Amino acid sequence: MDNCLFCRIVRGEIPSRKVYEDDLVYAFHDINPARPVHILVIPKHHIASLAEVGVADEPALGRVLAVAHRLASENGSPDGCRVIINSGRIGQQEVPHLHAHVVGGSDPVGPML
Ligand code: ADP
Repeated sequence: MDNCLFCRIVRGEIPSRKVYEDDLVYAFHDINPARPVHILVIPKHHIASLAEVGVADEPALGRVLAVAHRLASENGSPDGCRVIINSGRIGQQEVPHLHAHVVGGSDPVGPML
């Protein structure tokens, strides 16, 4: 997607503080962290929201979850994290490229971002 903010971050057209990248996912620090540790993990290819997920997207979505805990642990949240996906209007999703918020820190995080 040419003008998608997170697609542009994946392509390096917009700077980000990269945490991790592999063949399927890209992870970077949230620009406006809600918790001491706040990482976004996204599929590299464009998926607008959970509503648009198809079978072909399942490997990337699986990878998002598979790396989340480790990335939190390696970046200041060694004792766990909370993983949140906002989807669509009711989920108050602001950026229409599917992303998992991985939040944590030294203290337990509350239920909301
Ligand atoms: P919400 O803002 O309600 O959490 P989303 O679930 O769509 O909605 O989250 C979008 C997230 O993307 C926000 O936490 C926001 O701070 C983050 N964000 C927006 N632009 C950037 C950017 N250029 N670099 C890093 N994070 C960004």
